[in-house]
Amino acid sequence: MTEEVRKIFESSGALLEGHFLLTSGRHSPIYWEKFHVLQNPFYTQKLCHLISQHYQNQGAQVVVGPTTGGIIIAYEVARQLGIRSLFADRGSEGREFRPGSGLDPGTKTLIVDDILTTGKSVREVIQLVERYGGDIIGIGVLVDRSEKDLGLGRPIFSCLRSPTVTYSPDNCPLCDRGIPLTRPGGEVIQPSQA
Ligand SMILES: [Zn+2]
Repeated sequence: MTEEVRKIFESSGALLEGHFLLTSGRHSPIYWEKFHVLQNPFYTQKLCHLISQHYQNQGAQVVVGPTTGGIIIAYEVARQLGIRSLFADRGSEGREFRPGSGLDPGTKTLIVDDILTTGKSVREVIQLVERYGGDIIGIGVLVDRSEKDLGLGRPIFSCLRSPTVTYSPDNCPLCDRGIPLTRPGGEVIQPSQA
């Protein structure tokens, strides 16, 4: 299955190679452009099926994902499990549910996201669900590219585990080689010095 998942990312042009500035501020030779996959419902439902299958007998009552990619994944996993989906928006203090939505204390909750790198978004969603007293059964992501255990303290299921090196900007061999730094999407933010 791992090969099939990798093929989905490769054939949809979602696995990019270069010199990328990640949201975390770190630099990476690889970028997973999840929207190239998520724009294709056929691939999305296939990948989400792996997540929903993994968690299907654990009594989940709601699936929660962070904006933006996580909304699509939460919706599709919830549809497959026949339960509700919610999304966690960015607010002034971490993540928030939309006014009027939320979950009751004790609700068995599955958290999903697209690409797991530093775990920042997922950690924020965990805090949000905990604020509501939700009972988190686990986390499901499309790709886990984290380099080391993120210490999220919950079971993690990934459709593909692919640890990928990232560099701090002041110690980056790609910078040293003068390769232009780009934001995913193609914008050059630090042209070649070579
Ligand atoms: Zn760099």
